[in-house]
Amino acid sequence: MTVRDIAYVALGSNLGDRDVYLARARRALASMPRTRLMAASSIEETEPFGPVEQGPYLNQMVALETELSPRELLGELHRIEQAEGRVRTERWGPRTLDLDIVRYEQQTADDADLIVPHPAVNERDFWRREQAELRSLIARH
Ligand code: ATP
Ligand code: CA
Ligand code: CA
Repeated sequence: MTVRDIAYVALGSNLGDRDVYLARARRALASMPRTRLMAASSIEETEPFGPVEQGPYLNQMVALETELSPRELLGELHRIEQAEGRVRTERWGPRTLDLDIVRYEQQTADDADLIVPHPAVNERDFWRREQAELRSLIARH
């Protein structure tokens, strides 16, 4: 049985033309199968965290109405990251595009390579702001 759910996906870029990577990512997310882009938050610049020296990020979050399961969505996100030239080096290192599943309204996952809600769902201030913004955008429909 397919479940129609709402997924919140975080976009981040800190290499190259960051605005362009976010715009291309939004377009790619909107054209995934069985998925509709409902709303996009404003874009916010944040300082990088973690052990690696790197430039600031542009961040954004989108709400997607989708019939893709968390695992199917993760596969699509990896495909889009790769299409946008992401080279996986070290964890938390600089990247042209990072796409994370922040949470689903109804579904969860708890596997070695996929945890939903994302463990940092309530820890990153910009994620909290973006989720609040999306909630109010969606509520207006
Ligand atoms: P963080 O997840 O803390 O923001 P990161 O985005 O830099 O760190 P990555 O190197 O992009 O981490 O991802 C490492 C792995 O995390 C991915 O290959 C994926 O399998 C796994 N992962 C687990 N849960 C999720 C999730 N909710 N969304 C995206 N990836 C996830
Ligand atoms: Ca991330
Ligand atoms: Ca990631």
